[in-house]
Amino acid sequence: MSELLRWWAPWALPVSAPPARDVLVTIADGRIVELEPRVSREQAIERFGDDVVLHDGCVIAPGFVNAHAHLEYAAYDALVDGLSFAEWIGDHVHRKRRLSPEQMRASADFGAVAALHAGITTVGDASFSGDAAHAMHAAGLRGRVYLEVFGDVEGAEADAAVATTLERLAALPSSELLTHGISPHAPYTVGEALYRAVHATGLPWMTHLFESPDETDFYRGGGALREQMGSRGFALPTWEQSPIHALADILGPHVVGVHLVQAAPDELEVLAATGVGIAHCPRSNARLGCGALDLARVDRAGVVVGLGTDSPSSAGPLDPFAELRTALEVHRAIARDARWPDLGRLLRMATADAAAVLGYADLGTIDVGSHADLIAVHVGTCDDPLAAYVLGATPSDVQSVLVAGREVVGRDRTGLEAARARAADARQLLALPVRRAGATA
Ligand SMILES: [Zn+2]
Repeated sequence: MSELLRWWAPWALPVSAPPARDVLVTIADGRIVELEPRVSREQAIERFGDDVVLHDGCVIAPGFVNAHAHLEYAAYDALVDGLSFAEWIGDHVHRKRRLSPEQMRASADFGAVAALHAGITTVGDASFSGDAAHAMHAAGLRGRVYLEVFGDVEGAEADAAVATTLERLAALPSSELLTHGISPHAPYTVGEALYRAVHATGLPWMTHLFESPDETDFYRGGGALREQMGSRGFALPTWEQSPIHALADILGPHVVGVHLVQAAPDELEVLAATGVGIAHCPRSNARLGCGALDLARVDRAGVVVGLGTDSPSSAGPLDPFAELRTALEVHRAIARDARWPDLGRLLRMATADAAAVLGYADLGTIDVGSHADLIAVHVGTCDDPLAAYVLGATPSDVQSVLVAGREVVGRDRTGLEAARARAADARQLLALPVRRAGATA
């Protein structure tokens, strides 16, 4: 057994159990090997002296699992507003094309470093360029990079698109912490044959599904999204039935469905029956006016839901605390219920349930045997640590971040500021205005 690491804090949020007081967590070989509640600070010092890390005023929690992100767009939060989904995606494609490969990589690096500093330890990333893999590997994040594919292609063309994707994946880093998947982008940019060719690789896959009302209109043969994509020269896939029903025979627990805001009950039942998990991104859905996931209906269908931050270009910074609170506010407002969803459920959606959506075992809880992906977050004096954490904490309260038992981020923020500075050129280019039809400037 390798050297032991011991963390003590006045509180822990195990997720799999109620909050615990005065907790000593012992870690070895990347896993939690012992969990002792009711060990006072004095007892911890008496037993282990300098060999215990004291996180005074903190909770120890599982690191956040981000079920869906686009780290390479970290440099462009808060640049545009007031666009419908169809308008936003047109704007996004336009701005993204301005970046050089080096600038895209700098933006991805900033995303990976910012995620860790915010307490995110695992990411399921849908990556356009593949830079997210380099960035996650360099930063020490756990996760899976799903390389994006696009196209309404069939037969040899679909096989060629997949072969190219596999070649690109083979050139990306992988490790015990970092694995690969493919992301057929969405059924409005990817035809059924390409979905099937992706599935035939045997790799896990992630796809955007039923995000906006514009997307629903698209499958009915009209609407602003169809016009927007058509005007940009994309071949537009046709679906004779709902893509979820059309693809039902290849769905399974290896598939992550992102959004599902517009999904009907019969479509959610297909997801439940096949074991597809939902990556739920409430900030992006709200800001783009897409609506909100019907969480009560999803629960009734029996589909697992994990939170994701989505793209900073639509949702804002990589802040898992903000995502949690938006989820709380949106779902309680809809339910007109001050107690549902409760704080424990919300935290589970951002940790253990997001891990389940991505197909990870032993991740997102503080249990003996779980991966030691832990964060210490300052909450100060409190009576209810779950409330203090979910309602009040921010990325700047994160004191230490462990991935597989190794500290990858501490209190020093200079690494974050350096990564932000390296992405400044990318941000400057992304910020240039987009000329729109009919606009005078
Ligand atoms: Zn997305």
